[in-house]
Amino acid sequence: MSTQPDTAPETRQFEAEVAQVLHLVTHSLYSHKEIFLRELISNASDACDKLRFESLANPSLLAGDGELHIDVSWDEKARTITIADNGIGMNRHEVVANIGTIASSGTRRYLEAMAQDKKADTRLIGQFGVGFYSAFVVADRVTVLTRRADAPASEGVKWESDGKGEYTLEQVELPGRGTTVVLHLKPEEDEFLSGWKLRSLVHRYSEHVAFPIRMPKDSDAADAADESTDTQPAGQDEWDTINAASALWTQAKSEISDEDYQGFYKSLGHDFADPLAWSHNRVEGNQSFTTLLYLPAQPPFELMMGGRDERKGLKLYIKRVFVMDAAEELLPNYLRFVRGVVDADDLPLNVSRELLQQNRQLEKIKASCTKRVLDMIESLAKNEPEKFDTFIKAFGNTLKEGIGEDTGNRERIARLLRFASTKAEGAAKTVSLDDYIARMAEGQDTIWYVTAETHAAAAGSPQLEAFRARDIEVLLMSDRIDEWMLGYLHEYDGKKLQSVAKGELPLDEAAKQQHEEAAKAAEPLVARLKELLGERVGEVRVSARLTDSPSCLALSDYDMAPHFARLLREAGQDLPDSKPTLEVNPQHPLVQRVQTEADEATAKDIANLLLEQAEIAAGATLPDPAAFVQRMNRLLLG
Ligand code: ADP
Repeated sequence: MSTQPDTAPETRQFEAEVAQVLHLVTHSLYSHKEIFLRELISNASDACDKLRFESLANPSLLAGDGELHIDVSWDEKARTITIADNGIGMNRHEVVANIGTIASSGTRRYLEAMAQDKKADTRLIGQFGVGFYSAFVVADRVTVLTRRADAPASEGVKWESDGKGEYTLEQVELPGRGTTVVLHLKPEEDEFLSGWKLRSLVHRYSEHVAFPIRMPKDSDAADAADESTDTQPAGQDEWDTINAASALWTQAKSEISDEDYQGFYKSLGHDFADPLAWSHNRVEGNQSFTTLLYLPAQPPFELMMGGRDERKGLKLYIKRVFVMDAAEELLPNYLRFVRGVVDADDLPLNVSRELLQQNRQLEKIKASCTKRVLDMIESLAKNEPEKFDTFIKAFGNTLKEGIGEDTGNRERIARLLRFASTKAEGAAKTVSLDDYIARMAEGQDTIWYVTAETHAAAAGSPQLEAFRARDIEVLLMSDRIDEWMLGYLHEYDGKKLQSVAKGELPLDEAAKQQHEEAAKAAEPLVARLKELLGERVGEVRVSARLTDSPSCLALSDYDMAPHFARLLREAGQDLPDSKPTLEVNPQHPLVQRVQTEADEATAKDIANLLLEQAEIAAGATLPDPAAFVQRMNRLLLG
């Protein structure tokens, strides 16, 4: 431990993971180097938001400087760009925690994402909560001067680093509160030393930041001015506000262009792609609030990485003051990909997260947000099939969680889901449950599905044979979440959903009679199989499901699909062992050989193989794979 007092200048090391991020940032080939400006302005805007919020309880924080703003300037001679805000600022401890030593969970996720796919995509660094480090994309040295709003002028902090593993920390005198970030540009980044360039970047990426972004007056002209011109203005009147600087959602819909909506989304979601859709609404009544909600076109990284913590993207404002990121309080979990803003008029401004979770008014806002999002998705499905396709590919599996999570909207959500099917070509083509119902055969009252680990395993499942033979459509479910979801989706539009591996098949009278006769005739065969398989099976019976394959597994209504049981076991869950039910096709020569085979050992091999191939097709684990291989080889050489 250092024995230096807190005030002494010191040099410290970045934590290993931070250093790794910095290394990546400085060495990656960025297609959009300019993101640094958006990220630093976004941080400055957050700092202004925080100060405005804290000043409600403590107005003295604004002391003599009530107009919050973000200033962007540059110095051609010194080759620096400066982004300054008069927001909340940071004390020494916060500087270290936020931009210094300590790796956040975002740092880790960013590294993981980059390890998986280098291109994917350095531009989205802001989505990981490590946007500050993008400064090192264009700068070989970064200086931060910051003073927390509640600290005296003598407790300013100077942080400086070249991004190579170390930074210095020093206490300095700073007359004003807030944070100033000075970027000392790399030699090859001169293009950013231009008022025109910076101004156009602010317009492109930060137009809808709710605070004024200012640049030196006549900054375009200053570009052309001779060397001796001082481009750093001193007084207030020498700054121009260059962005819209207003809360977009508070404006009338009729005054907002599509471009405005898209631009706002991109700065909100740290995204580069346009959103698929948005929904902007004002609710008036005994509780008034405004919502502006977006469907992104690609999953935010956090979601792709399976992360749920630190969810950002749905911001709660109360009377236009930003209060907190409150996605969890304002939307159900299965809609966590939504981005946007909720601005409530009637919540108390001193509301804490704990209070928020118990707030009745919030329940109403949450229900309203949920409805708006489902409306938005429905409208895509109806009116913009291509965008809906994109949506389903990106978020279809997340939406499925809603079947279990949101009982009240189960039917609405189910209507939006899309599945592969035996009557759609390939895994890419999908059908809705309504499509399925529309082409059901007369008298069919069940929606049939098969679940498996992969699309190929589902499509090749022996249990489908009888359905193919009767031309009955079967939904092919191969997403991890499907089996779980189906546990909650027993019925849709009055039709039962049922697995082809479970229960009775829909046989007409003639077929039923035929099946019963076949079963009767095969009684000795079934008895022989039971004898040969002994403890390995619960039951053996003649199948009505099979036409081509010799055998398959059948499940009771309460059984879990074998591939799913295996996944749960692999995840460490303790499941009761249940013995499989084996169904056989007595027409198949291999099955018939069980009875005709004179050699007892060979008959036993065949019986076991009939069970084992059924287990493999169902995605179950073989209890003894080596024994299976030996059996197979014995028969092959036979
Ligand atoms: P994020 O902003 O997503 O949290 P960053 O890496 O951009 O991630 O910033 C890390 C943290 O540093 C911020 O959360 C904030 O606490 C602090 N910070 C960055 N810039 C400023 C600023 N201009 N004023 C005050 N705090 C800041």
